[in-house]
Amino acid sequence: MKVTRPKLSWWERTYFPAILKGLAITLSHIPKIKKRVTLEYPEVRWALPPQYRGAPILLTGLDGNEKCTSCKLCEFICPPRAIRIVAEETSLEKEKRPKEFDIDMGLCIFCGYCQEVCPVEAIWLKDEYEMADYDRTNLIFNKEQLLARGRKPPYLPGREKPLEEPK
Ligand code: SF4
Ligand code: SF4
Repeated sequence: MKVTRPKLSWWERTYFPAILKGLAITLSHIPKIKKRVTLEYPEVRWALPPQYRGAPILLTGLDGNEKCTSCKLCEFICPPRAIRIVAEETSLEKEKRPKEFDIDMGLCIFCGYCQEVCPVEAIWLKDEYEMADYDRTNLIFNKEQLLARGRKPPYLPGREKPLEEPK
């Protein structure tokens, strides 16, 4: 198909009409801006929606122990292989528990697959998103760090509130 180019006048060939038309459209939108969309972060924080999924944490059960039964489903499903679990036997009813449970937050993409797949609701994506660091090794959270983060409020609606830190 042959496209015929429109014949431009010398004034149109300067591009000024198109530039002025674009500026007029931009300026016409300014009176419509009623609400500021920027925040003075970090002094001012945005209100997270209830369905927000941030960093994954581990939850504590009602007996004060970690809920995780070390089934390793989350480790298997995790797309960037951010989870590493070493299981051990326990005398508790669940028989197995994680001896080591690490999540590399530098790899985690906050996809929520681990939460979806967990049969005992031991891992949750919480409302945390600030974890920048100059050293990537500091972004590998171990079991104790993940459990400690799971005990910190706020808890999102519908999520089990973990117990206080076991004495
Ligand atoms: S949120 Fe996704 S990427 Fe992060 S640990 Fe869970 S499964 Fe892996
Ligand atoms: S899926 Fe749940 S129970 Fe299984 S290893 Fe992961 S956190 Fe633990």
